[in-house]
Amino acid sequence: MSKHIVILGAGYGGLLAAQNVRKYYSKEQAKVTVINKFSTHQIITELHRLAAGNISEQAVAMPLEKLLKGKDIDLKIATVESFSVDNKEVVLADGTKLTYDALVVALGSITAYFGIPGLEENSMTLKSAEEANKIFRHVEDRIREYSKTKKAEDATILIGGGGLTGVELVGELADILPAMTKKYGVDYKEIKLLLVEAGPKILPVLPDDLIQRATQSLEARGVTFLTGLAVTNVAGNVVDLKDGQKIITNTFVWTGGVQGNPLVGASGLEVNRGRATVNDFLQSTSHPEVFVAGDSAVYFAADGRPYPPTAQIAWQMGELIGYNLFAYLEGKTQETFSPVNSGTLASLGRKDGVAIVGGSNTPLKGLPATLMKEASNVRYLTHIKGLFSLAY
Ligand code: NAD
Repeated sequence: MSKHIVILGAGYGGLLAAQNVRKYYSKEQAKVTVINKFSTHQIITELHRLAAGNISEQAVAMPLEKLLKGKDIDLKIATVESFSVDNKEVVLADGTKLTYDALVVALGSITAYFGIPGLEENSMTLKSAEEANKIFRHVEDRIREYSKTKKAEDATILIGGGGLTGVELVGELADILPAMTKKYGVDYKEIKLLLVEAGPKILPVLPDDLIQRATQSLEARGVTFLTGLAVTNVAGNVVDLKDGQKIITNTFVWTGGVQGNPLVGASGLEVNRGRATVNDFLQSTSHPEVFVAGDSAVYFAADGRPYPPTAQIAWQMGELIGYNLFAYLEGKTQETFSPVNSGTLASLGRKDGVAIVGGSNTPLKGLPATLMKEASNVRYLTHIKGLFSLAY
C-alpha cells in the first residue's frame, strides 16, 4: 500500500528531505506532501545581502515548484496551524487536515525576544526575503528623510545582537551606506551605525584574533560596537541599554537570537528547550514515525553538547532523513547521522570575512574567507538545483 509522507517546512532540512526521499521511493510507493508558508525556498544565510540591496531577490528566494519539478511532490503553499503527533494529524491555517504514515518536522526557528518589554513590537527582524527587502527600503527611506529634516534618529541605525546574523548585516550596511548617503546628499560621517551586544565580545564562536580582525575591519568602515550592554527595554523609538543609556533610533533590527518553533513544543513531541530531541537516525525520541530536521531539532554530539542551529547541519539532516524515511517505512536498516562540520564563515561586507574552516578550525581572514563563503553557497545551490541550472 502506498505510504504518505508529510514534510512540514521547505527550508534547508525540509527541501533536502523531499528531494532525497524521491531517490528511493517512486510516486506509486509513496505520496510526498510538502507544506511551506512561502512559495520559495529561501537561502536565509544570504539575507543580510538582500537587506543591503547587494544581491537580487531571485538569488535568495527560489521557487519551490522549480526545485521540486519532476519529483512528483504535492506542494502546498500554506501555513501549518498545529500538528499532533499522538493523533498523527496536521492542521493547516485554512482548516485542511492531513494524516501521515511518516512526518518530517522542519519548521525552523523563530526570533527570541527573551521577554524584553517592547522589543518585538518595535524592532525589525531578518528571517525572510520579505523582511530583508523591508529593511533595505526602510534604511533608504530614513536616509532620504534625514536629508530633509536632519533628525538624528533618522541617521541612527541600531543592530541588536552581535552573533553572526547581526555582524554580517552590519558589514553589508557599512558597505552600502556611503553610496546611499551620497545619493541623498548626506555625509556618511553623520550616520551612526551601531551594534549592541550583551556579551563581552561580538562573534563569541570565533577565536579572539578573528574577533579583533572583524572589529577593526568594521570600525574602519564606520561601525560602532557597544559590547557588554544588553538591550533591556524598547518604547517606540527609544532603546534602553543596561547601563541606563538610551538610544533613539528609527531603525532598529533585532538579531539577538533564535528559539525553537512553538508548534514543535505544542505537538506532543519530546522536546528539550523547545526543540525536538532526536536519536542518531534523526527520529523523534518519543515518536519514531516523526523525523526532525534543522532548527526544529536538537542533536547532541558525542561530547554532550548540542549542535548549533546552522544551515549546514540542517541540510545534512534533511538529506539523511530522505533515506531514513524510506528505510524506516520499509523495515530496512537506517543510517546514522554523522555531520561534517565545514566550519564557521562570517562575511564582513562584500570584500572581507573571517572564518574557521575544516575539522582543524583553520583560521582564514579577508579574501580567502570571502571566497570560502561564496564557494560554500555555490556548493549548496549546485546541490539543490543540479549542476546545470545554477544560472536561472
Ligand atoms: P546568536 O544567538 O548566535 O547571537 C545573538 C547575539 O545576541 C548573542 O551574541 C547574544 O549575546 C546577543 N544578545 C542576546 N540578548 C541580547 C540583548 N538583550 N541585548 C544585546 N544583545 C543580546 O543568533 P544569530 O546570530 O541569529 O545566529 C543564530 C544561529 O544561526 C547560530 O547558530 C549561528 O551560528 C547561525 N548563523 C550562522 C551564520 C553563518 O554561518 N554565517 C549566519 C547567521 C546565523
